[in-house]
Amino acid sequence: MSETDHRPSNFLRAIIERDLEAGTYADRPFGGSPGDAAHHAAGAPDPARIRTRFPPEPNGYLHIGHAKSICLNFGLARDYGGVCHLRFDDTNPEKEEQEYVDAIIEAVHWLGFDWQAHGTSHLYFASDYFDFMYRAAEALVEAGLAYVDEQSAEEMRARRGDFATPGSASPYRERAPAENLARLREMRDGRHADGAMVLRAKIDMASPNINLRDPTIYRIRRATHHRSGERWCIYPMYTYAHPIEDALERITHSICTLEFEDQRPFYDWLLENLADLGLLARPLPRQYEFGRLNLEYVMTSKRRLRALVEEGIVEGWDDPRMPTIFGLRRRGYTPAAIRALADGTGASKTNIWIDDRVLDGCLRTDLEGQAPRAMAVLAPLALDLTNWAEVFGSADHVEPCRAPAHPQRPELGQRSFGLSRAVWIDQDDFAQAPPKGFHRLYPGNKVRLKYGLVVECTGCEKDAAGRVTRVLAKVVPGTKSGSAGADAVKVKGTITWVDRHEARPATVRLYERLFTAAQPEAGGRDFRSVLNPASLSVVQAWLEPGLARLPREQRVQFERHGYFVADRVLHAEDAPVFNRIATLRDTWGA
Ligand code: ATP
Ligand code: MG
Repeated sequence: MSETDHRPSNFLRAIIERDLEAGTYADRPFGGSPGDAAHHAAGAPDPARIRTRFPPEPNGYLHIGHAKSICLNFGLARDYGGVCHLRFDDTNPEKEEQEYVDAIIEAVHWLGFDWQAHGTSHLYFASDYFDFMYRAAEALVEAGLAYVDEQSAEEMRARRGDFATPGSASPYRERAPAENLARLREMRDGRHADGAMVLRAKIDMASPNINLRDPTIYRIRRATHHRSGERWCIYPMYTYAHPIEDALERITHSICTLEFEDQRPFYDWLLENLADLGLLARPLPRQYEFGRLNLEYVMTSKRRLRALVEEGIVEGWDDPRMPTIFGLRRRGYTPAAIRALADGTGASKTNIWIDDRVLDGCLRTDLEGQAPRAMAVLAPLALDLTNWAEVFGSADHVEPCRAPAHPQRPELGQRSFGLSRAVWIDQDDFAQAPPKGFHRLYPGNKVRLKYGLVVECTGCEKDAAGRVTRVLAKVVPGTKSGSAGADAVKVKGTITWVDRHEARPATVRLYERLFTAAQPEAGGRDFRSVLNPASLSVVQAWLEPGLARLPREQRVQFERHGYFVADRVLHAEDAPVFNRIATLRDTWGA
């Protein structure tokens, strides 16, 4: 794969290259695991030239937007001799579950990334840092940099001000450190009710950046945490926890999405102060923001995806129409195609919307050279070859046919199947009255049954409603593909087919976009009003016999129809189920 060759440069690469050149992070010690200043000071020089991290909150399944962040963070670490950590940002006890942790690990691995480096697994949980976070909070209190505020949430909001108005000080703001410390310990020890008080950083109530107007850093919340259980009844706020997590892990480049830009001053304020207090090692991590990746016709917010599942609009988190990693996987997209989409979109300073077909393009590029080929008939119509017995001496004769598994890759071998007097063709390949330029079957026209023989259409049979039920044709003797006479009769059309005696019945699921609008929620619209009613059609198809034996998750090109995958849950040899991943770029011979 040539992924590394054509990767667009971006501002993050420029920053990292500048840092490497300047030696910003050279020779800094690393304690071998996350830890405070003393832990790292006692360590050896960090074998990783940079450290990045992917920090999901384990409160849902990952989606294509997360894939972007994964590819960016793991990709930068890989390209610059660094390490990327997988860190669960599990500081919010209410919404997080082990099930999501497991699913995220599986998804990141499936995308092709790993966190093993230098003999260590860099898989971390922010909840493992609760002790340190609390210790840091006490240190801030002792240094006069944080205070316990007993105002109600309502009072706090009223005093925060807004963009036009500076905030005003809480009556608790000037409390002595010793008293704040006592209160903080009471909070920790469960002596106060949820919401009775919070710990706030003491920064600047008049700051033009509202995030610096004494942000809350700890709150009381009696909740069972998926890892720390009942041990804590106070929990750090995300904006406090996240910079500390980065610093403990010695992250160098903390890459996040644009909505965190206004948090960066607090990120720096917090880490600088904790480093000054001797708790965190320098050089400190730096935060950089890039624009979110959005795909047209796709909705990615976890909350909205949950609604799709809970309202039964899709069949589950791994429904092939879902933009979750599990949905994309079940649909048949390859990790390489998803990585190519992520890498091809670089990193920019604005949120971007990408044409959803770009992903299909990436998939075709990946599969074109490797997916085996096979024939399948998705909208079956019977074709009878009426002179078969005459030509072959028996109505039961089966003509053996061979075809390459892949047209450009002879090393993948050949496939074989039979041709008899009764075959299935696709309804589209026959016309009673051909439109201009139609080169497939119509009375009087000759076409090649791909890898088989040339046949000449003689007519069709219809039912009472006038629907074509059967097409009739004669084989042209001596025109077998690969034989000396194959080219003796020139035809303008070649059609795919499967033999009615050998073909295997299958369920084939044809997917289209889930939404009819490129930005489903534009202008505050309810996404339910732009659902595509035709996002799934299930057809009973006939397959070339070898296809039933493919293992689950094997991808294949159905010639002329597109790329398909054997469903990873439902496919079985005696009941094949395939999903269409994407159509072929060009529709074949009109
Ligand atoms: P969502 O808003 O979809 O629920 P999130 O940002 O809340 O996602 P997290 O688990 O916090 O989900 O995200 C983990 C990382 O993935 C974060 O660094 C976040 O910025 C990044 N990320 C999430 N969505 C996108 C996106 N569309 N494009 C790029 N990065 C994203
Ligand atoms: Mg989030």
